Amino acid sequence: MEISKAQLELVDRQIKRLIAADNFYGKKLKEAGVDGVRTAEDFEKLPFSQKQDLRDAYPLGLMAVPEEEIVRIHSSSGTTGTPVIIPYTKKDVEDWAIMFARCYEFAGITKMDRIHITPGYGLWTAGIGFQAGCELLGAMALPLGPGNTDKQLQMMMDMESTVLCATSSYALLLAEEIAKRGIRDKIKLKKGVIGSERWGEKMRSRIRNELGIELYDIYGLTEIYGPGIGINCKYDTGMHIWTDYLYLEIIDPETGKNVPDGEWGEIVLTTLVKEGAPLIRYRTHDISRIIPGKCPCGSEYPRIDVIAGRSDDMMKIKGVNVFPKQIEEVLSSFPELSSEYQIHISHLDGRDTMRIYVETNGTVDFADMARKVAERVKSRIGFTPLVKVVELGVLPRSEKKSKRVFDERYD
Ligand code: ZN
Repeated sequence: MEISKAQLELVDRQIKRLIAADNFYGKKLKEAGVDGVRTAEDFEKLPFSQKQDLRDAYPLGLMAVPEEEIVRIHSSSGTTGTPVIIPYTKKDVEDWAIMFARCYEFAGITKMDRIHITPGYGLWTAGIGFQAGCELLGAMALPLGPGNTDKQLQMMMDMESTVLCATSSYALLLAEEIAKRGIRDKIKLKKGVIGSERWGEKMRSRIRNELGIELYDIYGLTEIYGPGIGINCKYDTGMHIWTDYLYLEIIDPETGKNVPDGEWGEIVLTTLVKEGAPLIRYRTHDISRIIPGKCPCGSEYPRIDVIAGRSDDMMKIKGVNVFPKQIEEVLSSFPELSSEYQIHISHLDGRDTMRIYVETNGTVDFADMARKVAERVKSRIGFTPLVKVVELGVLPRSEKKSKRVFDERYD
């Protein structure tokens, strides 16, 4: 997906503004000898930015406009060091709400909906993003925030909430509580907008079945506005990304080069119209792929697949980028298998091979099972692994997080 002329012009404008502002990022671009972009080749030469760069700019080094134009800040969690502060102008806040309202519209949500918002309000971007998009759309916001399950369920029944906004784990908790209390018939939910965590198909189908609702995945990160920069539509063929506000690239995390559409890699985002803290080629470390072709909904916005993991977990096998999460997803689609598995990668006779060990009980035919697993893995990642099925309990258990991937090529 090559950068369009209109997108290039916007990036050029962002770069010139950053350099003129002489902020942390403008200085960095100047040091790299960048003064603008005219062609796609120019763009691909632009340096990447990383979370560490944003940390180095703490607290307000990213600010690219005079302070009187900043109306709000948000911060990403500082669990692994210095937090990141993102300043927003009035227009940034409005643009984010426009994108978020569009997300709701793509999910078929209207101003007649009652949107039950459980993500947290505060420094991080979750609750307030769901809220602003809801108000712009004209729906009724129920700003519950997280926690207090009794109150959540009471309000959900009394106010007849029709849309649940939550993390996947909280949506599951609420779904289980609703089942446990036998109040399903008093719940009027029709849709769930689920954000901010990577979640698997097993969890998704549990929430969907327990609550009997349609589920929509919302994508976003604090560094780039927050949640609401993309969502899947009712055809559920991947998340549409709002490329009038962002330029989307998928790169090979090792080489930094763009991968062809359809191949997995790391999501890199460039803001096109952001004022408070524009970001150029920001490496998200989220792994996905562009879904080639057009969505049946007819939208021109490109689609990305579900987030398959973090680029730090990537393995390169036979020249193909593979992520443990992709294998795990395939395995979890077989109810006959336990949750234990091991992946061994080795180099035999000049070729990379992948062996996958899985466990099952004695009621299935091991050879048949191995063949089925190998086929499904091939259709997901593009090559056939060797699958070994073993008896339940054979693979080692550990109190701590079990080691599951063994790369024996460099031993
Ligand atoms: Zn669509």
